[in-house]
Amino acid sequence: MKRVLILGGGFGGIATARRLKQKLADEVEVILVDKRDHFMVGFRKSWALVGESTLEEGQRPLDNLTGIGVRVMRDPVTRIDPKARAAYMGDQRIDADALVVALGAELIPNAVSGFQEYALNVYDPLGIPRAAKALNEFQGGRLVIGIFGAPYKCPPAPFEMALLINDKFKTKGVKANIEVFSPQPTSLPILGQASCDLIESRLADHGITFHPNHKATSIEAGEVVFANKHMPFDLLLGVPPHKPPAVVRESGLVGGSGWVDVNARTLETSFPGVYAIGDVVQIMLANGKPLPKAGLFAEQMGETVAERIASGFVREEPAATFKGAGGCYLEVGGGKAMMVRGNFLAEPEPEVMLTEATTDFLNEKRSFETQRLLEWFG
Ligand SMILES: Cc1cc2nc3c(=O)[nH]c(=O)nc-3n(C[C@H](O)[C@H](O)[C@H](O)COP(=O)(O)OP(=O)(O)OC[C@H]3O[C@@H](n4cnc5c(N)ncnc54)[C@H](O)[C@@H]3O)c2cc1C
Repeated sequence: MKRVLILGGGFGGIATARRLKQKLADEVEVILVDKRDHFMVGFRKSWALVGESTLEEGQRPLDNLTGIGVRVMRDPVTRIDPKARAAYMGDQRIDADALVVALGAELIPNAVSGFQEYALNVYDPLGIPRAAKALNEFQGGRLVIGIFGAPYKCPPAPFEMALLINDKFKTKGVKANIEVFSPQPTSLPILGQASCDLIESRLADHGITFHPNHKATSIEAGEVVFANKHMPFDLLLGVPPHKPPAVVRESGLVGGSGWVDVNARTLETSFPGVYAIGDVVQIMLANGKPLPKAGLFAEQMGETVAERIASGFVREEPAATFKGAGGCYLEVGGGKAMMVRGNFLAEPEPEVMLTEATTDFLNEKRSFETQRLLEWFG
């Protein structure tokens, strides 16, 4: 029997496993490895940060995937041998007919001196309880949300956090100056200037100051340091720089971009039978900007790869390709959300737009999570 080894049980890995089982049922052995024991959507962090919900309410055990015939291994992947289509979990080596690398992006807070001491990491689920407590106890003053590197996951999320925190403070009567800084030239470079202006004026309307082109060099007690200025803060929430996980960086899969380079349509790496999907890859769009790191895209990539692998196993020409259509939600407070969506792989230019803020988009965002939790985990 053919075997597929999937490294990573996030959006990408789960979508791959499910689609393979839908296509080939017992004709394929699917092994999924993850060091975590559960799945959770990324935007739960925004809700838990402002106390709207908890992280735990959105977590589901990966072990539930055994119900559809997937073998789930809860181990850290310690080495990948793409030439042999094999991976090691400590001493245990598993060889496969197809290998799917879906290990996501790793957060590297140590890359910024002072981050561990002075910033609260709002992209790490383990950092959320501390950050939520600090926000609850915040009496007013300067609250800074810092983006310390790009690319980073879900580009709208830091702005969403700023708007939701602003809502929370208004309700509680806390007087704060909220500021967001980014190393990038606009809030969401994938959008044109007009849409970025809309986001930035929405921030300004809520009294939130946005500082583009701000690449922090370090953090000291009470201030973020940039090349030619210091930004004081009373509370600092940080999005640390991202990289592929160490095991991927050491595997020979990472290309010149610093991420895994793949064929944008087939997700094939340069090693036969080895695919990489989701946040661990960098796909450059026709305008020279990278495809945003989003769960929806990781999921679509996983489905594409599963279709292609399944076709290959039954000696059919693989036809499925990654389309890059969809987007990310940007919750704006007041019970509404916008969407950054479109056809990201369109040529000669990506066709990406910002929608209006509506309650329907917020409902869609909520059901994006509930539908997956129900379909994937029962
Ligand atoms: C605040 C926030 C809001 C977001 N909002 C949205 C949104 O609205 N819409 C959207 O589409 N996306 C959103 N995202 C982005 C989304 O969460 C990611 O893009 C998505 O999770 C990527 O999926 P993936 O499968 O590539 O990686 P992941 O989901 O990160 O999965 C990777 C898995 O690999 C495992 N792993 C890593 N290294 C190892 C190892 N060495 N051994 C074993 N296991 C390992 C990890 O434990 C993890 O489970 C948001 C993210 C954040 C942080």
